Amino acid sequence: MQCLLCNRLVTKRLAIRDLLWPGKIEWPVVCEECWSRFTAIHGPACPVCSAPQSTATICRECRRWRSLYQWQLRHTALYRYNEAMKDFMHRYKFNGDYRLRAVFQPTLVAAVKKLSADLVVPIPVTATTMQTRGFNQVTGLLTGVPLTTCLTARVKDKTAQSKKNRHERLQAPQRFALVDPAQLVGKRVLLVDDVYTTGRTIYHAANLVYGAGATTVISVSLAR
Ligand SMILES: [Zn+2]
Ligand SMILES: [Zn+2]
Repeated sequence: MQCLLCNRLVTKRLAIRDLLWPGKIEWPVVCEECWSRFTAIHGPACPVCSAPQSTATICRECRRWRSLYQWQLRHTALYRYNEAMKDFMHRYKFNGDYRLRAVFQPTLVAAVKKLSADLVVPIPVTATTMQTRGFNQVTGLLTGVPLTTCLTARVKDKTAQSKKNRHERLQAPQRFALVDPAQLVGKRVLLVDDVYTTGRTIYHAANLVYGAGATTVISVSLAR
């Protein structure tokens, strides 16, 4: 089997268990060298958004979000958004290499299960992205997980984020809309995104979900 990222042959030492196992042997999809370039988030981090930092106190960004909303959110991020992850996202999303979903699917699915929510809601992509890319990168990473696709994405604002000042970014108009919000009443909802950057996306989504009557909203992203 070839590594999905560098095409080198992936080797695996077979244990007796593998040889006796009647089913298909599970081969790693990525070689050890490629895998070692990703950095899992562990150690001291912001307890609200998983931002790696020297102490486990709530970071400035999260304090700002808490001052803007009446409710609270807890976000778990699994990996650092380092060069390897940026490169991965570029190939997966922008080159549209759908095979690459297999690299992080088991890790993200395991994290989603551990967070045991009533409903798992993926952050949607716009209709335009769906047309050009052909898939939603978040749902691609969640194969096998029952999803509640109650969020839809509105067409993006034409002004690039970088052209806006801080205040305008915070005031950015709601990008999502809800479909069938009644199903969210009284539920513990898990929002899933690929990358958490400013938190703007997740907070917009969470605001709608809380507004529809969810009791708890938590979120998870592959990278931060
Ligand atoms: Zn490799
Ligand atoms: Zn934080």
